[in-house]
Formats: sequence, structure tokens, C-alpha cells
Amino acid sequence: MFQNPLAIHSLVRALQKRSRPIASPPAGNGRTHRFGRQSFQHPPKPPTKSEAFISSIVWFRNNLRLSDNPPLREAAERGPLLPVFIGEPSRGASPEGARHWWRARSLRCLDHSLSRLGAPLLFLRGDPAILLPDLATRLKIDKILAMEAIDPDGRRTQSRLQSALSGKPVEFHLFPADYLVPPAGLPAERRSPWKVFTPFWQRAQSHLPPPLPLPAPDRLDGIPFPRSETPEDWGWEPEKPDWAAEMRSFWDPGEEGARRRLNAFLEKRLKNYAVKRDFLDEDTSSLLSPHLANGEISIRSVWWSLRESTAPEEDRAKFLSELGWREFSAHLMWHHPDLATQPLQKGRPEIAWREDPSSLLAWQKGRTGIPLVDAGMRQLRRLGFLPNRVRMVTASFLVKNLLIDWRKGREWFSDNLVDHDPANNAASWQWISGYGADAAPWFRIFNPVLQGEKFDPEGRYVKTYLPELARIPPRYLHCPWTAPSSLLDNAGIGKDSPYRNPIVDLGLSRKRALQAWTSGNTPDVTPS
Ligand SMILES: Cc1cc2nc3c(=O)[nH]c(=O)nc-3n(C[C@H](O)[C@H](O)[C@H](O)COP(=O)(O)OP(=O)(O)OC[C@H]3O[C@@H](n4cnc5c(N)ncnc54)[C@H](O)[C@@H]3O)c2cc1C
Repeated sequence: MFQNPLAIHSLVRALQKRSRPIASPPAGNGRTHRFGRQSFQHPPKPPTKSEAFISSIVWFRNNLRLSDNPPLREAAERGPLLPVFIGEPSRGASPEGARHWWRARSLRCLDHSLSRLGAPLLFLRGDPAILLPDLATRLKIDKILAMEAIDPDGRRTQSRLQSALSGKPVEFHLFPADYLVPPAGLPAERRSPWKVFTPFWQRAQSHLPPPLPLPAPDRLDGIPFPRSETPEDWGWEPEKPDWAAEMRSFWDPGEEGARRRLNAFLEKRLKNYAVKRDFLDEDTSSLLSPHLANGEISIRSVWWSLRESTAPEEDRAKFLSELGWREFSAHLMWHHPDLATQPLQKGRPEIAWREDPSSLLAWQKGRTGIPLVDAGMRQLRRLGFLPNRVRMVTASFLVKNLLIDWRKGREWFSDNLVDHDPANNAASWQWISGYGADAAPWFRIFNPVLQGEKFDPEGRYVKTYLPELARIPPRYLHCPWTAPSSLLDNAGIGKDSPYRNPIVDLGLSRKRALQAWTSGNTPDVTPS
């Protein structure tokens, strides 16, 4: 595993060259320091009373922001600090390609903001449980501060780091994960974790309001150091093929982008959110999920901003309850670390999933012949995002109409969503499959035709992602195979198009799913 010996070595040398400790930057003539692709100004620094060159490492994880960032805040109060981000090798079941693209951009913004305040971000790649103790020992740093992860990989890493530091004069301080009610906190009140959303959320809300958000520090006492690696060097920005082209123009990663997104939502779209959230023909939801997944805005900042909003109570309550689902998913993952792979409902045997690589591929590429499913899957590839309604429809189609294992869908989403959140994704796939806590009943099978007619009545959403259906009238848009052949000919739909013959018959595959869920076996019904 690559452990960045060069980056650490040059950092140590940069420190050793200094004959005196480092202090906060006063105004004055700066010198330019090359770091990554950007140039920053670092003013000359006079000595401080501090004995150590650097007293704290701030290990940035899923908290890529300056505001309301408790580890950063505390480190800034302690004195000179070193902000570090560590690119960890890809985690088996969650490749997170799209989220890495997002994170690379977000990290660039964070580095820029930190550098402006005087403490550029050091990028390292490898295992935090090896790199951080090494760095702390070499630089004689006595405290590492970070925010807690709630996913099993992140939790394993933090406990390995804790063990690696035992016996060393370095304290590891973990701040609670970024939730309104930290998942570890609630069950202390009862014997077992919650499995049903409503009582969980009622109880969680009794812990509100959350503490007020902390302001961003207005300056930091850091060190300039020679160029280190950047996420671009790690291949987090795709080049060939460049699948992120459209994402770049649609999204605005980073802390400022998150704040702009929240403000725009509160000003324009929160009103009517309760009624319009599921409609697909315009942006009706907040689009905050990638900002939250990457910690560019804290959940308590969102909560306090929502509280100040003058939108109708019904809309504010609906939005808050969606944030509640995020809390609930975290709660589930905290107490069931195998949420991404093992059904929560242990009593019911799993059905015999079908091995069907060509249908799986058709689903992934958006070529099933079912317009709403295909539009969603193509939007996912283009923007790294899907509205919640379409996530439910596409997931239900894979698991129920195609009888393909929910874990394969979960993994595809994890690689393609810019907002991939291990807890939300796993809990939602379990919910759709009928295995989760408080799950949709196994016999609930979303009908993509009815869903399309209800939530995309003009077909604007479908046509955006399936231009080949542009000339199909709304009446047939969600079920083109029912249109007269001559109409399809005139609309340019080829004879071998899946929109004449979808890969599966919705009615028959529904029956097959119901039988499979009842018997636990895959019945011998050919739905296509
Ligand atoms: C199969 C499936 C997979 C999903 N995977 C993810 C994922 O990887 N990451 C993710 O953030 N969400 C996931 N969701 C939940 C939800 O679809 C998204 O959070 C939502 O669509 C994001 O859009 P928004 O920010 O505009 O949501 P809004 O409607 O504006 O909601 C505000 C916030 O509340 C939270 N939220 C909303 N709905 C849910 C929910 N059902 N469960 C948990 N939190 C929720 C999100 O943080 C969201 O940003 C998944 C849902 C399904 C059905």
C-alpha cells in the first residue's frame, strides 16, 4: 500500500527548516506557495509562545467544511495545526466512483478555504491507522481530532487508529458524527435499537433543538509545505471516458455550493414541498443530499436554517421528516453494521435471486424498455443523482420485476451516486426489498407505468433522458409498447427497440415476484 513517504518526508523537512515555532499570520507581503494546481499567499510568520511546531492534526473525513466543524474549531483554539485528508483505497462493496469525483472537487474548495486562512490541506493516500501515528510521531504532535464515522469501514479504521496510538503520547479525539441525534446516543434509553421509523423519530425529536452551529474560524495557524498529491493524482477526476462532463455543469460541490443550494431551496422550493416533492417534471426537492453526504454543510446548520424559514408548517414538517429518515438509516447502520449485506429481518428466508447478467446490464444502462426506469438509470449515469421517487421505482423494478439481488442494485447505486451514503443507500434497498426495518411490504411492487403517469404526466422527465421517445404522445409515453405500430413507426421507434418489446412483461413479472416472495423460491414463470 502506498503510504506517501515523500509527502511526509518533505513536510518534516519543511518544518525542520524553520528555526522557530509558527504563529498566526499578520497582514503583510506574502510569498506564493505552489500546492496542487493552485497558488496561495502565505504571509511571513512571527514566533508564538507555543513550544511545539504543530499541536494538532485535524483529520478531515466526511466533514469537508469550515463552518460548524468541531474538530477544526477545537484544533484552532489549541494552536498550530495541520489539516489532513487521506484518500483511502477503494472499499470493496462500495466503489463510489461518482462520489469520488464530487469529493475531489469539494476537497479543492476546502483546500482553497483552509489555505486562505493559513493552513493548507495535506493530501495523503493510504491507511489512516498507519499514516496518522507516523505523522504525529515525526512531527511531535500530541492530538489528532476527527469526526466519527458511522459506517462499518470507517468505524473499523477509527478503532484501528485508536489501537495504533495506544502507548503513544498522542490523544485521538473523535467528535460525534454529523446527525441531529448521534446514533450511538439514543439506544442507551432502551434495551434494543428502534426498528420502526415513527417511534424512533418521535423520540429523536425530543432531543431537539440541536446545539447552535459553530462559526468558521477566521484564521488558522498552519504551515506551508511543498506540493503533495491531490485527488486528481488518485484518478478521482475521470478523463477517458469522461463520464462526469454533465455533472460538472449541473453540480456545485463545496461548502459555498451547499449553502447556496440550501438558501435557494428555502427561498423557492420549500413552499409546496409536501405536495410537490415526488413530482418529476421540475426540481422539487432540496438536492442537498450530496452536500450532506460529503459534510459540506452540517445537519444542525440545516436544522436551524429550516427553523427560521417562513414556509408553511406542513412543508417544513415534511422536510424535517425526510431528514429524520437520514437519522433513522444511520441509527440502523450503527446498530446493524452488516446492513449493506445482510437482511435486517432475519426470520424470513431470502428468496432465490435470479442470475441474469443481461437484464442487470439492461437495467444499469437504461435499456429495459420501461421508460421511467430507463430515464432514471440514464439520469443516474449522467448526473449521479435520482429523485427519491425514481430511486424507489428503479430499485423495485430490479428487485421485484427482475428478481435480481438487491445487493447488486445497492452496489451499482454506490458507484454511481454523487450522494452515496452507505447508511441511506443500504437501508433504502432493504426497505424496497421488504427485508428492512419498517420496510415496504414485500407485496408492494411499484408499477413504473402508473408511477410515470402520476408523477410525470406530461412526460417531461422521461423525454429529458430518453430523447428517442421525443415524438411519442403523453398517452403512450410511459407504455410505448401499447401504442399502434404505425404510431411507433412515425415516431422513429425501430422494430427491434426495447420500447416495442421491454425485457420483461410487467404483469407477469409482478406475479412471479409475488410467488417468489410467498414461497421463497424463484417460480418457473417466464415473464418475458
Ligand atoms: C434505493 C434508494 C437508494 C438511496 N440511496 C441514497 C444514498 O445513497 N444517499 C442518500 O443521501 N439518499 C439515498 N436515498 C434516499 C433519497 O432518495 C435521497 O436522499 C433523496 O432523493 C435526495 O434528494 P434531495 O436531497 O433532493 O432530498 P430531499 O427530499 O430534499 O430530502 C432532504 C434530505 O433528507 C434526506 N433524505 C430524504 N429522503 C431520505 C430517505 N428516504 N432516506 C434517508 N434520507 C433521506 C437526504 O439527506 C436528503 O438530502 C435512497 C433512496 C432509495 C429508494
